[in-house]
Amino acid sequence: MDRTKELLLSLAAPPPHRCYLCESECYTAEDGLCDECRRILKLAISPTPPEGLDGLSAGLQYCDELGPVFYRFKAKERRDYAPFLAQFISIPEEWHAELLLPVPLHWWRQYCRTYNQSFLLAEYVSSRYGIPICQELLTRIRSTPQQKKLLGKQRLRNLKGAFRAAPECKGRSIVLIDDVVTTGATLSECARTLKKAGAYRVYAACVACTQR
Ligand SMILES: [Zn+2]
Repeated sequence: MDRTKELLLSLAAPPPHRCYLCESECYTAEDGLCDECRRILKLAISPTPPEGLDGLSAGLQYCDELGPVFYRFKAKERRDYAPFLAQFISIPEEWHAELLLPVPLHWWRQYCRTYNQSFLLAEYVSSRYGIPICQELLTRIRSTPQQKKLLGKQRLRNLKGAFRAAPECKGRSIVLIDDVVTTGATLSECARTLKKAGAYRVYAACVACTQR
């Protein structure tokens, strides 16, 4: 095939993309999904905020098909998933959010993983809403065993005193950014720590949550 014909053909039919969910090469829409996967995903409907939070927004209901997506994003260095996942995060206007706070990882875990996935999401949310990120508001001072290996009450105990808040959170409306909410124990502990240090309101905006 000569070059001109090749070029014309490539213009007529844009190259296929890879669907973020099933990873098959196909024609995806702007949301990065093929038609079949779009039918699988369900929107989360007014999820109940974890204890201590003033509100929770989550775009999607967590489902088994999303498991590998978050796994690739967190454990397989697939940072390119950030804009795809961030599109499902929204911040209600009535929150009057002043600062975004990605849920912090312990420095050692961040060092091993090389990045904090919640920070990558927060960057996109920040530029969409024009709300600044302030990572310094909360530090994870204690590395804790992974939450998913523990049961409900153990999770809360596991997290006690795991964070330290900076005095700058005083009087502010803060939105925690996270990928998935399951029990909400981490978000609760973050909120508890921030409120104790004088935060006015603490909300959380996430990509997905399990049915609450
Ligand atoms: Zn797909």
